[in-house]
Amino acid sequence: MNSKLQHDLDNFENILEKTKQQGIDFLSNIDNIPTSNTYSIDPKTELNELGLGSIEALKEFNERLAPLMVSSPGPRYWGFVTGGSTPASIVGDWLASVYDQNTQAVKAQGGASALIEFETINLLLQLLELPDAFLGGFVTGATMSNFTSLAVARQWFGKQYGKDFAKNGISETINILTATPHSSSIKSLSMLGIGSQNYTVIKTIEGNREALDTADLEEKIKALNGEPFILISSAGTVNTADFDDFEAIAKLREKYNFWWHIDGAFGGFAAVSEKYKHYVKGWEGADSITIDCHKWLNVPYESAFYLVKKEHVNLQIETFQNSNAPYLGNPLENFNYLNVLPENSRRLRALPVWFSLKAYGKEGFRDLIEDSIALALHFANALIENDFELLAPIRLNNVCFTLKGEHNQEKVTPFLSALNDTGKVFMTPTVYQNKKGIRASFVNWRTNEEDVRIVIKEMKDLLEII
Ligand SMILES: *Cc1c(COP(=O)(O)O)cnc(C)c1O
Repeated sequence: MNSKLQHDLDNFENILEKTKQQGIDFLSNIDNIPTSNTYSIDPKTELNELGLGSIEALKEFNERLAPLMVSSPGPRYWGFVTGGSTPASIVGDWLASVYDQNTQAVKAQGGASALIEFETINLLLQLLELPDAFLGGFVTGATMSNFTSLAVARQWFGKQYGKDFAKNGISETINILTATPHSSSIKSLSMLGIGSQNYTVIKTIEGNREALDTADLEEKIKALNGEPFILISSAGTVNTADFDDFEAIAKLREKYNFWWHIDGAFGGFAAVSEKYKHYVKGWEGADSITIDCHKWLNVPYESAFYLVKKEHVNLQIETFQNSNAPYLGNPLENFNYLNVLPENSRRLRALPVWFSLKAYGKEGFRDLIEDSIALALHFANALIENDFELLAPIRLNNVCFTLKGEHNQEKVTPFLSALNDTGKVFMTPTVYQNKKGIRASFVNWRTNEEDVRIVIKEMKDLLEII
C-alpha cells in the first residue's frame, strides 16, 4: 500500500475525530456565519507528487477553501428554496459514505441495500399519506425526478401510437400541457428530445394566481381532438407556492387520456399538515410525482425522489433498462434500480431520509412544516408594517414581495444586493406579474422569530440609506 494511504489508515480514528470536530465547529456557530461573502480563490493548485495525507489536506482546506463556505444550511438563508440538514440527516449522510453501498438490487449476492431504499420510500408514502400504488426511488434532486418521471411519460405517449420511443426514437409530436412549470421541467423537455419550446401554456386562474385554470385546460384538451398528452402540474410554484386543483384534474382524467405529472418539489409537504393538506387533495391520482428532500425535509444535498405508479413499471423499465442487464424476470421481484432510473451506480441516498423519518416521526415534520409557514406569515406581516408590499398572498412558505410604490421599482435590485451583502440574510430576486420582486422561502428547521426580527431590522436600516 502507498505510504500516505497506509499512514491515513493507521490514523483513521484521529482523522475522523478531527473531521467531526470541524463539523461541530461549523454547525454550532452557524447562526453567526455569513450568508454570503466576497472571499475568492484562484481555483488552481498544484497536484502534489507525494500527497499531503488527510490531516495536511484538511489544513489546506481550512486555510484556502473553508472561507468560501456560507451558512446556506443556516436559519437566514432564504434564497431559492434551501433546506438545512437536521442532526439525524447528517448521521444518515455520513453513514451512507461510510458504508458506501452501491444501491441497486433488492435480492442479490453482492448486497441488497435497495431494500433500505424501498423501506424509506414506504416511510415517505406514509408521511405524505400516499397509497402504496407508487414505486419510488431516489435521485439527486427534483430536476432529475422531473426528468425521470417525464421520461416514463414520454414512453407512455409513444405507446398510445404503438411506438417504442426508447428503442426507436421519437416519431410523433409529443403534446405537453402546463401552466406554470418549474424551469427544471422545461430543461427536462430539452434533455428528453421533446424540445424546451414544445409545450402549450394553459392560462392561470384570474387574479393573483399561478395555478392552472381548469376551464382553459379543458379547452386546450378539446383542441387536441382526442390526441393523448402529458400534463405537467404544480404542487407549489416557486414564486407564490400555488397549487393546481388536483380534484378537478382527477375528474378530467375520467374523460381524457393523459399522463399526469405533479411537481411537488417542496409543496408536496403540505400533505403532512392537517391545516394545509387540502392543497394536495386528489394528488394520489397522478401517474408520477416529484418531491425534493434537500428542501423541506432538511436532509443534505443531493436528495429527491420520484414516485411513479406501479402499473407503469414496464414503461419505466423500457425507458431505463440497462442494455447489459441480465434477464429481468418479474421486474418487481428481481427489482434493480439501475433499470428504472438514469444512474447505474448509486449511493445509498435513502439513508439520510430514513434516519430523519425515524428520528423525528410524523409529528417532527408536521411541526417543521407548520413552523415554516407560521414564520412566512410572521415575516409577511412585518413587511407590510414596514414599507414593503406583498406581490402575492402567503399560501404556504414562500413570501414574494417588493418595495412599496411603483417609483421604487428601480430600487429593488440595489436594495436586494445591499441586503444580501450584509451577510445576515440571503434572498433571491424574482419578477412576478411584471414587477421586480424579492422572494424569501422558509424551509429551514432552525429558523425562528428572532431571525425574522434580525432580518427586518437590516431591511429597515437599508431602506433609510438606499
Ligand atoms: C427546486 C425545485 C425544482 C428543482 O429541484 P432541484 O432539487 O434543484 O433539482 C423543481 N421543481 C420545483 C417546484 C422546485 O421548487
